[in-house]
Amino acid sequence: MRNAVTDERAARVGKVQITIDGDEAAHDSRRHLTSGRGTFRQIIDNMHAIARRKLLKFSVRVNIDGRNEAEARALLDVLAAKGLGVHNGVSVYFAPVESVAEAASGGCGDCLSKTDYAETETRLQSLAFEKGLMALPKMPRYLGLCTAVKPNSYVIVPNGDLHKCWDTVMDPARCVGSVMGSTRPRDARTEAMWSNWSPFENPVCSDCKVLPACAGACAFKFVHNDYASGESGKLPCPSLKFNMAEQLFLRARARGFVQDADWDPEASPTVRADRMLTGDRHTLESVGLVHSALTGAAAGADAGR
Ligand code: SF4
Repeated sequence: MRNAVTDERAARVGKVQITIDGDEAAHDSRRHLTSGRGTFRQIIDNMHAIARRKLLKFSVRVNIDGRNEAEARALLDVLAAKGLGVHNGVSVYFAPVESVAEAASGGCGDCLSKTDYAETETRLQSLAFEKGLMALPKMPRYLGLCTAVKPNSYVIVPNGDLHKCWDTVMDPARCVGSVMGSTRPRDARTEAMWSNWSPFENPVCSDCKVLPACAGACAFKFVHNDYASGESGKLPCPSLKFNMAEQLFLRARARGFVQDADWDPEASPTVRADRMLTGDRHTLESVGLVHSALTGAAAGADAGR
């Protein structure tokens, strides 16, 4: 019989991510096998068996849209009832469902707006922390620069096409070259749009208080803003922009520095009726302007060759 502990160590695998999108009914309706059979029970049983022996750490990603907050809460109950949590290497995090592909256009009527997602995330994070399924939210110093804009960073698809971002791999018209042959002018224009993008080149990001941590978030939403759909798909600002004060308050409350009564519903929220504590956010208009400028610059450079 194989020794699982030795196998994991030999493979040098220490952590895996699993996506579970709610309780059994919700998850199995979204993420079933091609046969239609559900996967929820098997996943939970496997996690339980492995976490009990501390063979691996698990990061459970829960995708959230406008339909599954209650089911996400129920999932936290299931995990906690199974004895899973940070203490045995299981933690959860939440992410918004976004429509970033042309084929999904019109198919994400349930996606939450940026502010609605941030509110939902705050509620879920608070519950996950209470249940021992999440460490205290910590303000990131740096979320990292979008990999797609780094030189020599490419996604290679099976036919040899090169893309800068995995969100374009289904569309050959968005490739930037090929390992099979020379680069076409259209591909070079697309690559130029990626390499010309910088958060310092637009007034909203360059004035943003969150810029040092965010670094402009998702370059795809600027470069291919015409491709994504809906607010969640087109707008780049991460949830931190909309719930930073709430996350800091959760941390301060858990550490005993403040109490619920210290939260002022008028003055404390990140998003207020008149302004945001974190400064201006990107809008459909502002990212649209960046997209137009990138398109124009790439076309101009091409014409000048
Ligand atoms: S404006 Fe939005 S995308 Fe730009 S740095 Fe700020 S939070 Fe990030």
